[in-house]
Amino acid sequence: MAGRLVIVGAGQAGFALAAKLRALKDERPITILGSETSLPYQRPPLSKKYLLGEMTFDRLLFRPESWFADNNVEIRLSAWVEEIDRTAKTVRLQDGERVEYETLALATGATPRRLPEAIGGELAGVFTVRDKDDCDRLAEAMTPGRRLLVIGGGYIGLEAAAVARKLGLEVTVIEMADRILKRVAAKETADIMRAVHESHGVTIREETGLHRLIGEGGRVTAAELSDGSNLPVDLVVVGIGVTPNDRAAAEAGLAVANGIVVDAFCRTSDPSIFAMGDCAVFPWQGEEIRLESVQNAVDQAEAAAAVMAGGETAYDPKPWFWSDQYDVKLQIAGFNRGYDETLLRPGQREGASSVWYFREGRLIAVDAINDAKAYVTGKKMLESGINPDKAALADPASDLKTLLG
Ligand code: FAD
Repeated sequence: MAGRLVIVGAGQAGFALAAKLRALKDERPITILGSETSLPYQRPPLSKKYLLGEMTFDRLLFRPESWFADNNVEIRLSAWVEEIDRTAKTVRLQDGERVEYETLALATGATPRRLPEAIGGELAGVFTVRDKDDCDRLAEAMTPGRRLLVIGGGYIGLEAAAVARKLGLEVTVIEMADRILKRVAAKETADIMRAVHESHGVTIREETGLHRLIGEGGRVTAAELSDGSNLPVDLVVVGIGVTPNDRAAAEAGLAVANGIVVDAFCRTSDPSIFAMGDCAVFPWQGEEIRLESVQNAVDQAEAAAAVMAGGETAYDPKPWFWSDQYDVKLQIAGFNRGYDETLLRPGQREGASSVWYFREGRLIAVDAINDAKAYVTGKKMLESGINPDKAALADPASDLKTLLG
């Protein structure tokens, strides 16, 4: 039997790795070290139904506590790994204890970027949205009539804005770029989502940055914006992206470049150390990429498990993602990086549409807005390398199925 696998990070990827190894009948001893106080849980509902109060926390857990004992997976919570000693093959916890490993897996996720203290980032009433505790605090503060400023028009910020409106807060979203969703989606998708938010009463101010937050008695009361205006606020959600948790890896001398660098087999520059999920940068289609999604965390962890169990299949992601805002379900298949052409296809139902991304004439991604058929068909096309006829695609009367060939 192989020696102990220590998994750092009890999140989506860390749990998926342990579960997959057991599914593969790999019986090596496994210890998961997680810094949070809860058993592994899914994060996506945090900024959706959980924040809204429509889902209880127990429904977010991947497995009950008994699963870990039944599967001989030791799980240690509130266990923060400070340091990796690659020579001794140990990790050091915050209390000085050392845990030995034969194989180490880094599944440490990412940390939301915060506002600097100098511009009010430490004031009470300023929130980030990453874990259960963040969302519990935010949910408590989201009472009807309060004024919320969301900084950053990405998925997390927009989902928080949608929840806040549903709860009866006044919501303003500011976005420094010339439009929301600039980093992740095409203009067509952004235009649709902007219109959805505005129809629900959210004020969206693009090309508007934050100059500083103003506080009274240590609590945020206003925001000074880059256009010189002053906005009274009671709460602020900061949704300006994340940074991968790669500090311990970097200090241990592993290759790190905005994430822990791994090869296609999820191995770091040290053959006994793997990395996966939000913290890992991996090669794909000639580029080094890092994905922040459930699909990537699970599939990369499962690929690593297969390699640990003796397989040699490279991780070849089939990216997909989703976001729920009000009654809009945005589903994304593929990875739109480097797109040079987009096409908007109106859906057959009211409020449904899809945006198709091409790079050098090749279909690379699709955003489906309340359009499950476009999502499913687009995903199939991407998986089978089908390039749909663009004129037919743009025609809402054409049947998507026939474009599958
Ligand atoms: P995580 O799940 O973040 O787990 C990492 C764990 O490691 C954390 O518990 C962290 O505390 C712990 N850790 C870090 N450093 C240490 C250390 N030194 N020692 C011990 N423990 C450590 N994706 C989608 O596909 N669709 C969505 O709709 C979606 N919505 C999201 C909504 C929210 C609010 C958030 C925060 C994320 C969302 N995501 C979504 C992204 C998705 O949840 C992440 O990509 C996924 O959780 C990544 O898994 P991971 O295991 O890499 O990291």
